[in-house]
Amino acid sequence: MKTRSSKPNNSRARVYSVRAFALVLALSLTAATSVSASALEAVDTASSFQVVVNKTRPLTPITYRPTDLVSVPKYNPYGRIVRKTVAKALVQLGDAMKADGQGTLIVQSGYRSYSSQTKIHDAKVRALGKIHGEKLAARPGYSEHQTGLAVDFAARGVSTLTESFANTKAGIWLAANAYRFGFVLRYPRGKTSITGYSFEPWHFRYVGVEIATAMHDQNIATLEEFNNLPAAPNYLN
Ligand SMILES: [Zn+2]
Repeated sequence: MKTRSSKPNNSRARVYSVRAFALVLALSLTAATSVSASALEAVDTASSFQVVVNKTRPLTPITYRPTDLVSVPKYNPYGRIVRKTVAKALVQLGDAMKADGQGTLIVQSGYRSYSSQTKIHDAKVRALGKIHGEKLAARPGYSEHQTGLAVDFAARGVSTLTESFANTKAGIWLAANAYRFGFVLRYPRGKTSITGYSFEPWHFRYVGVEIATAMHDQNIATLEEFNNLPAAPNYLN
């Protein structure tokens, strides 16, 4: 066994502690700057739970498709798919809604691919013209449903995709409670000039419990306002 003399080790230890202090300082400075950098990156990154998609912020790449799409295991009569984390949250949400006696959740729609959005968009534009058609169907690459993080809700025996959903037992419960499961009402009433969409009481977007709770507690209604992004009332061209 080798014996070490304590003297050089002590002076080395001092050098190390100075270096360690410098390292900790450098790391904490890096961490402070990278928080805002990563927050910015998150709203731009298609695969981030914080991505913001609207009429001025298409997905990158425009044909983005999530790699972790799964079928929602409950409340899913139409066989919709969403990202894995969202599927889990949807089951918890549906279970809580049922436990509260507010009806049986139905996932009306979830992920839509670039190509299926192209078909929907083109059919509406052909039928109604560009201005009216695009009020009803987003351009491919600009639909939040393409992130795999957006869902349209219904409830058993309740009609949806109309504003009256807001006044149903299910619609009222969802508006008040979805944040606890990481979902925000993405197109609130009175925010069309910011979101670019009319009030859609059925359309919710998964952002994670932390962000959804922060928005709820701070009373911030849109992702644009929460992230200090410009309003997106219209497409840029
Ligand atoms: Zn929707």
